[in-house]
Amino acid sequence: MNVDYTINDDIVAIKSHSQNAYKEGQLFTCKGLKQSPCNCKTLLVDIGIKAIHHEGICITCNKVFKTNNNWWFNAHLFQKLDNLVQINEVHEILSQTAEV
Ligand SMILES: [Zn+2]
Repeated sequence: MNVDYTINDDIVAIKSHSQNAYKEGQLFTCKGLKQSPCNCKTLLVDIGIKAIHHEGICITCNKVFKTNNNWWFNAHLFQKLDNLVQINEVHEILSQTAEV
């Protein structure tokens, strides 16, 4: 399964993170993409958030793996910003994130 963005694209979170690392609608730049080191090959994205723990967990098979300083998230929880249909929606998101 692929995503519609690549490195350096502006992306938006389509779902809030379970541990509140980010909120739905928050904007990021895709810093890196890689597959999870387990058999699932889940696509992971680096959005520039530093890891709290140096371990990641695959949400599919629950396998724990070592990470570097970056926190890797499930890439399917983000969407390329260009794909938002309503330009008003983008402005709304931009004004929200500007206050953070
Ligand atoms: Zn897995």
